[in-house]
Order: sequence, then structure tokens, then C-alpha cells
Amino acid sequence: NQTIMNEKNESLAIELSSLDRRHLLHPSTNPKLQAETGPKLIFTGAEGIYLHDMSGQKYIDGVSMLWNVNLGHGNKELAKAAYDQMVNVAYASSFYGYANEPTVRLAEKIASLTPGDLNTVFFTSGGSESNDTAFKLSRFYWQLQGYTEKRTIISLKRGYHGVTVSAQRATGIEVYREFSGSTDPDIVNAKAHLTECELGDRSHPEYEGCIRSIIEKLGKDKIAAVIVEPIQGAGGVHIPPEGYLQAVRKLCDEFNIHLIADEVICGFGRTGKMFGVDHWDVVPDFMSIAKGITSGYIQLGGVVMREKIRDAFTSYDGMLAHGFTYSGHPAACAVGLKNIEILERDGLIEKARKLGEQLEKGLLYLEDKYEFVSGSRVKGLLAGFDLMKDSDKNIPFEESVKASVSVVDEAYQRGLLIRPFDFEPGMNIVAIAPPFITADNELERIINIVDDSLAAFSRKFMK
Ligand code: PMP
Repeated sequence: NQTIMNEKNESLAIELSSLDRRHLLHPSTNPKLQAETGPKLIFTGAEGIYLHDMSGQKYIDGVSMLWNVNLGHGNKELAKAAYDQMVNVAYASSFYGYANEPTVRLAEKIASLTPGDLNTVFFTSGGSESNDTAFKLSRFYWQLQGYTEKRTIISLKRGYHGVTVSAQRATGIEVYREFSGSTDPDIVNAKAHLTECELGDRSHPEYEGCIRSIIEKLGKDKIAAVIVEPIQGAGGVHIPPEGYLQAVRKLCDEFNIHLIADEVICGFGRTGKMFGVDHWDVVPDFMSIAKGITSGYIQLGGVVMREKIRDAFTSYDGMLAHGFTYSGHPAACAVGLKNIEILERDGLIEKARKLGEQLEKGLLYLEDKYEFVSGSRVKGLLAGFDLMKDSDKNIPFEESVKASVSVVDEAYQRGLLIRPFDFEPGMNIVAIAPPFITADNELERIINIVDDSLAAFSRKFMK
């Protein structure tokens, strides 16, 4: 029977692979390789921190897919919340003043969790839409205040904000930022990366690339907002220096500019607190959310705004000409509500924080053990480390070694999915971000596999 099953699976895998190569264009994938070799994995099942592929192989999801499956796979409560809402009101629009219960309740729940007076939500279907919405709402707010030229958005090097045109231009990763030449002329990328010149140090060597210097050059009356991730994710997991976010907040206050916190990865517990900004007690003017709000079970995002901004919009007697068909999707909002209920009921954010401590110890052990491992950084279950040929002397691996890709491939061969970053010359970063429901011994297993993968890499490249 097993043989028949295997043969059946094999022929299905061949069929799906051939259909995939012909009919599917994959996101963030090399299309030539895709067309030649077909999909790397075809997932057929998922439970907890594990994913199963067509050949029956089991993988640990060490990055919660795209840092979003925070409650892990196969959560029946989330599935049931979607089912129950779908057989009641599967879809209803929020346009033209229509409302439905889960959308209203989720907005209120989010308002109760976000810091300060971030109390009103505009729903979207994902992170890119949230950031584009935040940019548009910020510009609209300034228009209403009579500042018709306050349009520029300042973003950061290595920030990742999505792929819709404005979000793409705000993204400080060249391959995304430049893709297809699509542009938004009112977005400027600060080239200095999370440095301390925002604290006011004009003699800082990177001063010219800082947010502060851009504001001074362009003039505050041209600038609508600054967007930052509290902890950068797709840029390679970068935690800002202490005081940085507070300094950016002060800068925005000083020059009458909005601060947009992109909480798409950090939000809903990933960093061991409800929101990334909570680590530094900063209240942004807008907060973009997505991913973890539903643990990826269904598409949902949103922009949360402060009361002053909402008040400006509610005194505008015209149509707010912005909205997605799925803004406030009832089934998605029902899943969001259930997701937050489970996070709170099961103490999962505290659990993410504690698991983070265990992960930090594991990574420090690996840094000690391998001279080419350095710079490990962990906040909750968002973690990364660098691979350097000589970390003391800051000497990177040769490009040809493909260090982070090689280590990640070793892990893959050992049944662990983690993520490499090498989009800048000399950059080799590995990210780890497992689901919050990871058991202590499963986290130990993840660290052990990373250990074995580094050892295998070392045998090949560190002779
Ligand atoms: N912002 C951040 C911080 C992200 O990590 C992402 C997705 N990786 C986005 C925005 C874009 O979200 P989406 O892919 O849902 O459009």
C-alpha cells in the first residue's frame, strides 16, 4: 500500500511541477530557474511548527514561512473562526458606510492594544497596501491642514515596506526598490543605516545620509512622514541602537512630520511585546500592521492612526477616496479577533519573549563555537546573525562562497527552513523566526540543526 501511495504521490508531484512551470509565475523567485526546475517544495500538510512536502519529507518552519505564521500551522480554532463567519456573512463591503460585527470589533480590539491614542483603524489586505495607505493618509492629512507641499516620505536603508509602487520605493533594498523602474517621486531613502546622528550629532561620519540631514536639505514643509520598522526584518534583522526610535520620534515632533511605524513583522507579539515600538515606548502617528494579525491564515492588514489624524478626517465633508474591496473583510477580521484571543489566552507573547532568551543563548553558543559566526541579535522570536570570514577584522566571505545561502541549504537538507540575506556586497545574514507555539525541545532541535549546518559549512569552506 505504501508503494502504491508513493507512486501516486510521485506522479502527482510530476504533474504539479509541470503545471507550475508552465502556468505560475512565483513571487520573489528566480523565474528562469523556476521554469527550468519547477517548485523546490510542494507542501501537502502542516501541523504546529512542521510542514510536510509531497515526498513525505517533514520540515521545521524556522521562519514561520514569511514571519507570519505566529500561531503555527493547523490551528483549528482559527479555521473554525473563518468557517463560522463564512457561513454567516462571508463577505460584506465596508464601503458606503456599511459595517459588520467582526470588522468593528477587531478595530476596537486593535485600538485597545496599540499604545497612546492610536485608536482608529483603516483595514487593508496586507503590508504593502497598509504602507501605501499610510503614505496617502499622511499626505491627505497635511493637505487638509493647508500644507499642499508636504508630500515626501523618508525611509531607511535596508527598510522593507512592500512591493506596491510607493512601498517599493520606500524599500531600501536596491533589488526591490529599482524593480521595473516603477517610481514615486516623493519618496527619499536615507542612506545612513540606523546610526546615531538622528540624536543630533552633526559631526557623525554618516550625517549626510541621515534622516535629519534630509529634513534640513528638503525643508520640513516638503516632508509628510518618516517610515521605519521598529526592528528591520527583510533587511536582515537589524535592531536599532538604544535611543534611536525615541530620537526619530523627537525629530518628527520638532519638524512637524508624521512618524509611521511599519509593524508588519513586529506587530502582534513577534518581538516578545505586542508591538515593536513598545520596547522603546514610542507612539507613532500611524502604525502599519498585517502578517501576524491573523498568523497568516487569511489576508489582512491595516493602518492604525492617532486621534488627531482621525479627527482631521472626520471633519472633512467629502468622500475618502481610498479603499480596497477587501478593506474590513468579515472572515479575515473574525480570524484576526480569534488570533488575538488565543495570543492573550495562552500567554503566547510572553512565551515568545522567553523562547527568545533561549534562542539568544543558543546563538551566543554558536558565536563562541564558530569564528565565522558573529553579530547575533534576538528580540523575542525575531533573530539573525552574520557570517563573516573574519569577524574581528570585518572581512566578508567571497561572493562565490555564497555563505548564507550555503548554510541555509545545509539546514534545508537537515529538515529546517530558515532564511538567507545577501542582497548587498559582503552581506551574509541568516534569520530565524519560529512560531510562538514552538516547544522548548523543538527550539533546542532548531539550534542543533543550525549548529550541524554551520559545522558542515565549516568543513567545506573553512579549511
Ligand atoms: N512591511 C514589512 C516590514 C514587511 O516585512 C512586509 C512583508 N515582508 C511588508 C511590509 C509587505 O507586506 P505584504 O507582503 O503583505 O504586502
